Amino acid sequence: MKYVDEFRDPVRAGVLLKEIEALTAQIMAGRDRPVVIMEVCGGHTHSIFRYGIEKMLPPEIEFAHGPGCPVCVLPMGRVDDCVELAMKPEVIFTTFGDAMRVPGSRLSLLGAKAEGADVRMVYSPLDALALARANPDREVVFFGLGFETTMPSTALTILQAQAEGIGNFSLFCNHITIIPTIKAILDSPDMGIDGFLGPGHVSMVIGTDPYDFIARDYHRPLVVAGFEPLDVLHSVWMVLRQMAEGRAEIENQYARIVPRYGNEASLAAVTEVFELREFFEWRGLGSIDHSGVQIREAYAAWDAERKFAVASPSIPDPKACQCGEVLKGAIKPWQCKLFGRSCTPETPMGALMVSSEGACAAYYQYGGIDAVPEPAQ
Ligand code: SF4
Repeated sequence: MKYVDEFRDPVRAGVLLKEIEALTAQIMAGRDRPVVIMEVCGGHTHSIFRYGIEKMLPPEIEFAHGPGCPVCVLPMGRVDDCVELAMKPEVIFTTFGDAMRVPGSRLSLLGAKAEGADVRMVYSPLDALALARANPDREVVFFGLGFETTMPSTALTILQAQAEGIGNFSLFCNHITIIPTIKAILDSPDMGIDGFLGPGHVSMVIGTDPYDFIARDYHRPLVVAGFEPLDVLHSVWMVLRQMAEGRAEIENQYARIVPRYGNEASLAAVTEVFELREFFEWRGLGSIDHSGVQIREAYAAWDAERKFAVASPSIPDPKACQCGEVLKGAIKPWQCKLFGRSCTPETPMGALMVSSEGACAAYYQYGGIDAVPEPAQ
């Protein structure tokens, strides 16, 4: 397959859907509750809604939208830290665009910019490093965010800063790791997930072996999946085939991109610069052991948390906000009391409504809004 059209071929989709229907009928013969498949990655959530995949599948198949959108799981206290850093007169605070509107307890970064903070959008950490080079009298802070997908580029930027001796650049590190998070979901008491679509981009870096415990210890199938409609349908079919055959294994549907052992050079850069934190707080999921990374002592000179003594207060989400339940797959986005009413992409109350990869934003944008019952008159 060479062209994107081939991954959107309706004839092939029709064949897969027929096979999915047959497998679903076989599985449902022995059970009385729907099959719940969690797509871990926000990119998959986006594809599922964008291409209407959920509506194509038999009603007995349900998706639970997982925690794989790094913007969505950023706790409010860390957003407040960003605002505090950005408000310092000597700081140029740099960030990817999708983090600009995540609500803090008082302000988002966009709000801080409106109040005079020097907040600038960049497309890569190297853009932030270039700003540091060009502004030697200012402190340039880069907001490092994301799973293992974006960690390598941040690590390589720190190594570049060290190589060039650029001292007015630092990283506010909020990188997180996917494996402890999946484990926390599997350990949660209300866990009702039958199988997983594994994240394609993260797996490109870490490979497929780190997921082995899911099949071995929890007896759940996981299929690392691509992002085109046929990728998602094929991966769902692979999960169902395992269930129908009574297997629980780690399979790789996205083998054209994801190598079994990951990307050696990326993993080496990450290991050189970062180490696991004892714990890290996630929005809606609470604190998860070893689920984030911090900069190693050897690179402390480029660590914004050490340089500026960041407070990181723990701030709960607004009471009515149900981002945590959505992230754990316990409720659908439209079942949150705020969905489509006080929480919309224009006025987000929770982070899941901010990022295009957030389940609530995807649901809102691609028609799930129809599911919201009208308020009582
Ligand atoms: S509708 Fe808003 S508050 Fe509710 S879960 Fe979604 S993002 Fe969170």
